[in-house]
Amino acid sequence: MSAPSPANVISIFDQLDARRIEAWLREKSPEALERLWAEADRVRRENVGDEVFLRGLIEASNICRRSCGYCGIRAENGKIERYRMSRDEILECAEQARRMGYGTVVIQAGEDPGLDADFVASIVRDIKASTGLAVTLSLGEREEFELELWKAAGADRYLMRFEASKPGLFAAIHPPQAGRETCDRPALLRKLKALGYEVGSGFLVGIPGQSYADLAGDLLLCRELGLDMIGIGPFIPHPETPLGKVSAPVGEGQVPPSEAMTYKCVALARLLCPEANLPSTTALATLNLAGGRELGLRRGANILMPNLTPLKYRALYEIYPAKACVRETAEQCHACLGQRIHQIGRRIGQGAGSAPHFRRQERPGTRNGRGA
Ligand code: SAH
Repeated sequence: MSAPSPANVISIFDQLDARRIEAWLREKSPEALERLWAEADRVRRENVGDEVFLRGLIEASNICRRSCGYCGIRAENGKIERYRMSRDEILECAEQARRMGYGTVVIQAGEDPGLDADFVASIVRDIKASTGLAVTLSLGEREEFELELWKAAGADRYLMRFEASKPGLFAAIHPPQAGRETCDRPALLRKLKALGYEVGSGFLVGIPGQSYADLAGDLLLCRELGLDMIGIGPFIPHPETPLGKVSAPVGEGQVPPSEAMTYKCVALARLLCPEANLPSTTALATLNLAGGRELGLRRGANILMPNLTPLKYRALYEIYPAKACVRETAEQCHACLGQRIHQIGRRIGQGAGSAPHFRRQERPGTRNGRGA
């Protein structure tokens, strides 16, 4: 892409079709990329402001019935010790989130049948009653009756990345459960939206076999689904997984799982979905512990997810190796993130921090039709 002059920058950013997105993903010129970062930062400030909202992450179980090709807690990995947090442990983490002033807790886990419908519903009810915090669930592909039950119990949001928008690539890295068909995650995300959830999704950057056109498709799918939250992280190979064992195809066609490529995706997601919440992810911090989170926040992101998982379980939730901050207590994590936010001239958001995109939908007749 030739470097645009300042006068035509806006029109170039306005025409983000598949071809232009792909050109940005391949862009190497530092000057052009500076313009992309600056535009993403401007659009972030205008649409979601300077507040950075904190979501306290509770990794409730690493037990998983699935065999995702990228994920270290897949069922076949016999090398990790498995755990499921007790009800009291989960409630204590939520209480800690409230004490620290977080507006949201995210309960994430492998696809663990032991986290059954009633158990999860009662935990949601208790957290809502005792803390009043927004509750996000991220428990994988679950039955419609469960998703309905949890919504009725008070769950506010559901987070499930579609991981890869291209059906063939998704099917290759995400084998179905025995006797079932590959899940249509975009269809399930639409269902979640219809149930009234604030919906988060997202994708992996640099999965072996991912082309630039595929990645442009991932970004466009975020807009098409009208997501309220978009999590984007680099693929980090885990040695105990099929995708961690193959050496990634190198060459012109393969997207690298790099920090730079992830920032491009975060910035482009901000331009495509101006009113969505965008986390600066832990996977990004894992690639660049010193400054990855800050760079994400300065290139379109507005959310951080401090980890509240008790230390004795933290290292066992090893979806990828050398995950950032596995040895820090919740208090240390909190202090560190607060400092990082202030150092870049931003402030910690108060309250639940729903996406403007979602709040607008809750008030019918006020949609602005930007398709974000
Ligand atoms: N069982 C839930 C939660 C999965 S873990 C679900 O399927 O939705 C949360 C996210 O971690 C996944 O959506 C995936 O995008 C990311 N992840 C898993 N393995 C990874 C890896 N090796 N590198 C980078 N991110 C990974």
